[in-house]
Amino acid sequence: MNRAILLDKRPVGKPTLEDFKFIEEENPAPAEGQVLLKTLFVSVDPYLRGRMSSAKSYIPPFQLNEPIQSGIIAEVTESRNPDFKVGDFVSALLDWKEFQVSDGKDLVKVDGDAASLSSYLGILGMTGLTAYLGLTEIGKPKAGETLVVSGAAGAVGSVVGQIGKILGCKVIGIAGSDEKTRILTSKFGFDAAINYKTSPDLKTDIKNVAPDGVDIYFDNVGGVISDAVLANINQFARVPVCGAISLYNDTEIALGPRLQPILVRNSVLMQGFIMFNYATKFPQAIKQLTTWLNEGKLTYTETIVNGFDQIPQAFIDLFEGKNEGKMIVKI
Ligand code: NDP
Repeated sequence: MNRAILLDKRPVGKPTLEDFKFIEEENPAPAEGQVLLKTLFVSVDPYLRGRMSSAKSYIPPFQLNEPIQSGIIAEVTESRNPDFKVGDFVSALLDWKEFQVSDGKDLVKVDGDAASLSSYLGILGMTGLTAYLGLTEIGKPKAGETLVVSGAAGAVGSVVGQIGKILGCKVIGIAGSDEKTRILTSKFGFDAAINYKTSPDLKTDIKNVAPDGVDIYFDNVGGVISDAVLANINQFARVPVCGAISLYNDTEIALGPRLQPILVRNSVLMQGFIMFNYATKFPQAIKQLTTWLNEGKLTYTETIVNGFDQIPQAFIDLFEGKNEGKMIVKI
């Protein structure tokens, strides 16, 4: 029998295992023109939390009693589609199922010899593209500027900081443990890193490591961390707003500092974005990321969790900061 994971309840606050339901179903068989896919690696991402609520967004909500979908690397195990052969590896937005069929339209072939298969879910996939395009298109870094990254030890943040260094910035990361801040400076080359969970005064700690102020703030988390960074923002700073994970589980709209005076006073550009806004630039971005990877200028880390039944827990663990780099479930 095949296994699938459905959305059983819309989470209220932080998601729990009870929000998901495992079912068994008949093994799927490909019809003419279809392929059978075996799931190998599943990406769990903070943005899936938004799709679990019924609120209108840039992407439709998941339906109750329907499978959750996310980025998946799968292997073609049967093919009745001339464009694919058995043994091909593909990347696509697919259902949380062990096996599924596809007509092949949205499948992108990936080369397991050129890079590790899981990297197509991270540095060479959505999170790498998000980091590169958000930073270069909105952040527009210039050598000598100071870049602050929140969620810095995560999938997007760890890449943003490294690109900032490649482009000549002074880079400061904010993350949620001493182990993470250590990795930021030792492995990813950040100039400084702050543990927001132990900092007695984040605004002052940022000022201490960024005495000239912040020129670019790549915001992955929102909330009070962002308030502290914006209190140090420079004139003509750019703020790519990538995500707001600290607020995703809120049941009421949080109140914070009113930002308009800060933005006006300093002529700050603050812009939210979705990586798909830059879809035409994906090929160029992948080329650049691959070049930097091959040159050894860029590195990445993954937290790999094993087993299909661990997918919901791995997703929930994102909100506890249990990952370093990209959180991936290996089936
Ligand atoms: P991460 O790999 O960064 O994982 C999430 C991390 O967020 C955790 O490890 C944790 O690290 C941190 N975190 C969790 N809860 C909180 C909290 N309450 N306050 C502060 N930090 C918290 O995920 P991604 O790199 O995949 O995503 C990062 C952000 O980018 C998310 O907000 C996501 O929604 C967004 N995103 C946006 C895209 C776009 O197109 N705009 C595309 C992809 C992602 P720690 O231990 O440091 O707390």
